[in-house]
Amino acid sequence: MERLQKLMAHAGIASRRESEKMIEDGRVKVNGKVIREMGFKTDPDKDVIEVDNQIVSVGEEKVYLLLYKPKGYLSTTDDPRGRRTVMDLVDVPQRIYPVGRLDYDTEGLLILTNDGELTYKFTHPSHEVNKVYHALVKGDPTQQTLATLRRGVLLEDGPTAHAQVKQLKKIQGNTLLEIIIHEGRNRQVRRMCKAVGHPVLDLKRVAIGDLTLSNLVPGQYLHISKDRLERAA
Ligand code: URA
Repeated sequence: MERLQKLMAHAGIASRRESEKMIEDGRVKVNGKVIREMGFKTDPDKDVIEVDNQIVSVGEEKVYLLLYKPKGYLSTTDDPRGRRTVMDLVDVPQRIYPVGRLDYDTEGLLILTNDGELTYKFTHPSHEVNKVYHALVKGDPTQQTLATLRRGVLLEDGPTAHAQVKQLKKIQGNTLLEIIIHEGRNRQVRRMCKAVGHPVLDLKRVAIGDLTLSNLVPGQYLHISKDRLERAA
């Protein structure tokens, strides 16, 4: 929530002082009602603001990005220790943030947006959006071990939900697995694999719902529409 005159000034309608004068003069409406109260609180994402009966755009334009996060970047907006974050890779005027997390050492698909509603859809466990990981694990897990991963593994924060797990190929004595989960617990894939005795050597998220890395290379991103994202959620 923001004070009306401040919001108007931020949106470039007029200076703060001029905006106050407009409010005093009864030229400003919020959701159809003239507001003369100085300091009236508004929600830029929900309220409809009119000046002289013209709707003005005050909310930040929503933006949706698909980023191929490389290893060695944090999925946060800033880091007190000065490490690189995914924000160093994107260049948009809006204040965006990552939807969910990928570990520092994990690469792959990450959504960034400033749309809180959409973030909720992707991160709330009840929505069960599938996340597809390719995990190179140490050694050669048996069929029984894969079945355990599918059924659920007991971690410190409780058992994991059902997962889809398949073996993709063997690489020099190690194994590349495809693991599909819909939970989003901290370091979940790494912890699951470690719990069954096959620590992860390399981890990549290749898809979220039906959104894939397509032709992106590490560090690259593309803009996508809200509709497209909603269909994937
Ligand atoms: N699981 C992990 O262990 N790490 C991630 O970054 C994502 C899922």
